[in-house]
This record gives sequence, C-alpha cells and structure tokens, in this order.
Amino acid sequence: MDRMFFVAVFGVKDKEKHIGTYNLAICPACEGLTRYEVRKSYRYLHLFFIPTIRWNVKYFVGTPCCGSLFELDPVVGKKFEKNPDIEIKQENLRRVYTRSPLKYCLDCKIDVPGQFSYCPYCGGRL
Ligand SMILES: [Zn+2]
Ligand SMILES: [Zn+2]
Repeated sequence: MDRMFFVAVFGVKDKEKHIGTYNLAICPACEGLTRYEVRKSYRYLHLFFIPTIRWNVKYFVGTPCCGSLFELDPVVGKKFEKNPDIEIKQENLRRVYTRSPLKYCLDCKIDVPGQFSYCPYCGGRL
C-alpha cells in the first residue's frame, strides 16, 4: 500500500468539545461564585473520515472567574454529559492549574484571591 493512501484512509485526531455549563458553582481555586465550563477531550481513530474508536477520554472544567482548570472525575463527566442537572462537587475536581495563585495581604495577614488588585478586607493595594 502506498503511504499517501494509508494517511488518507486512517488517521488519529484529538478533539475537544464543550459539553455544557454548570451554573451557580463555587470555584475551588478562588472560592468565588462561578460557573463550570465542562469540556471533553478525546483522541480518536477515523477511517474514511468516520470516527471509529475513541480513547483517552478526559473531562475538564474551566472556571472563568480566575481562569483555573480542573480535571473532572470521568464517572461524573460521563453522567453530566447525559444529564446536565447532576451535581458536580468540588471533590470531583482535581486542580490542573490556576492562573492566579493566592495573594497575601500583609496588613490583614490573610490570603486573598489572586485576581484582586486590592484587599477586599482593608482596601489596601496588594
Ligand atoms: Zn475562580
Ligand atoms: Zn487587607
């Protein structure tokens, strides 16, 4: 078989799709009221441009409040895909990264969400 032909017939691709939004959630990173943007990513083999086998299925949750990303428990992710009314708990999320680590107010001796420029307790600049 000619290599060009081989490439044209099968292929492996990564795909990511948005599967839903979970509203009125508390962000595990900054503890603000937010929403979870749930995405699914997977790798698939396509044969004549028809997706056949999927593997490496992962679910992710992004929080727009502070730009953090979490990996969602795949059992919960699969349930959410079928029924977006299920509950997503903080313990179902594993932190992948948070864009804004906590800042520390020297005056109040307290941690403050990283996206704040001013301390919400004393109004001092961070
Ligand atoms: Zn947040
Ligand atoms: Zn302060």
